[in-house]
Amino acid sequence: MLLLTNLAEHLAPLVGAEFVAERNGVFVVSPKDTQEVAAVMGFADQHGLKVRPTGGRTKLSWGSLAEVQIELSLLRLNQVVDHPWQDLTCTVQAGCTWETLQQTLARHGQFVALDPLWPSTATVGGVCATNDSGALRHRYGSLRDMVLGMTIVLADGTIARTGGRVVKNVAGYDVPKLMVGSLGTLAIITEVTFRLYALPRHQQDFLVTAESSEKLSPLMRAIRESHLATQALQLHGNVSFLETVNGSALYIELNAHPEALQNEMLDQMCLREGLTLGFLGSAIPFNREALFRPDAVVIRGTMLPQYVAAFADYVQREGGASVIQSFGVMYANFPYQERNGVPVLRVVKDLWIDLQAAGGSLTVLHVPDALAAEYAAWPARMDTSSSTPKTGEAVLLANAIKQQFDPNQTLNPLANESAAQPVR
Ligand SMILES: Cc1cc2nc3c(=O)[nH]c(=O)nc-3n(C[C@H](O)[C@H](O)[C@H](O)COP(=O)(O)OP(=O)(O)OC[C@H]3O[C@@H](n4cnc5c(N)ncnc54)[C@H](O)[C@@H]3O)c2cc1C
Repeated sequence: MLLLTNLAEHLAPLVGAEFVAERNGVFVVSPKDTQEVAAVMGFADQHGLKVRPTGGRTKLSWGSLAEVQIELSLLRLNQVVDHPWQDLTCTVQAGCTWETLQQTLARHGQFVALDPLWPSTATVGGVCATNDSGALRHRYGSLRDMVLGMTIVLADGTIARTGGRVVKNVAGYDVPKLMVGSLGTLAIITEVTFRLYALPRHQQDFLVTAESSEKLSPLMRAIRESHLATQALQLHGNVSFLETVNGSALYIELNAHPEALQNEMLDQMCLREGLTLGFLGSAIPFNREALFRPDAVVIRGTMLPQYVAAFADYVQREGGASVIQSFGVMYANFPYQERNGVPVLRVVKDLWIDLQAAGGSLTVLHVPDALAAEYAAWPARMDTSSSTPKTGEAVLLANAIKQQFDPNQTLNPLANESAAQPVR
């Protein structure tokens, strides 16, 4: 094991001395390309050092990760490498910000059809590692549907190119799908190839409000089942919490030529449900970012589409606010406060059990410092078939994959030891 005090001297030859810095006892290295990333990983793996890849550092609290000795910043790998717009694909380095990528693609009227959190600072690699997505998921699907290929660096420094640069590509295992959402635990993403879409030319945004989400549920179902060219459909529960309007709000984004009169069809659908269609400018009046308050527990939950409104009202009854994509991906917050004597983490745990019982899942994204110790004692996953928490099958599978990719636990080791145990 190397002496940590000498670590900078060992890292400097790999990336250049000016690209090694110490921050709170962690050595931050900033390689310029995939080869340098591989050199750092090979060195770390060989000497038993733990590494955290970082991009814009916007979502580092996601994933219960343990302390590391090296932070590997991807920010110098920030170029759009190739944009063959005729093929509707692009290849971009992982440290490029989402906003820069979209601005580059927009010159040819194209975009990656995904609206992640904090696009001006979040990087392509970070967005892929966290499997982030926003309201556009309704029309275009999730990130896994958009990634065609990747260049990754494995924990031991091996460089691997997976997938391809064309839309039709069916050979071999689809490793990029595994990398999406792996929270930097399996490999470092250095380059991504995306499929692209044309930018919407006739975007129209609408808002329908009601005192509860259940009141909006029939309209939401009717829109989902209609032939309207709906780009985004997103429910906002307890928006009064976000200081915008009272109650719940359904955000609807259409992309249809005005002569198709789809706004009139939508208006009629609202009237049938006793609701009023409101026309918005182009901007959504509240966003997922507003949920990430320092004093709140923030979670991501999944559920089947038929439960969306019920869970929005559930969160509201418990004093929280939510933003839910119509097909069942929810972001919600619960302020850190006692409510009727029930601690906020208990509320979250009950929601976790109810979501699992409804066929979904819950991931805690942010916990206020005051609750960190209590949260650290949580199990990795709740077994809903008994009242005793125990590690679920999904975590065992994730650990087995982790063991295959990173046997020395070099990359983003998990803080929760029970979740980090290799499976035999
Ligand atoms: C039409 C539609 C139908 C759907 N139907 C279903 C359905 O039937 N069932 C369902 O469950 N969802 C369903 N969903 C929800 C959606 O598919 C999921 O939210 C999505 O797949 C995200 O889950 P994920 O596990 O891949 O990603 P993530 O949200 O990134 O991860 C989920 C969990 O896995 C953990 N995790 C991820 N990677 C790792 C890792 N490398 N190591 C350790 N832990 C890790 C995360 O911490 C988190 O706990 C549906 C969505 C739509 C749009």
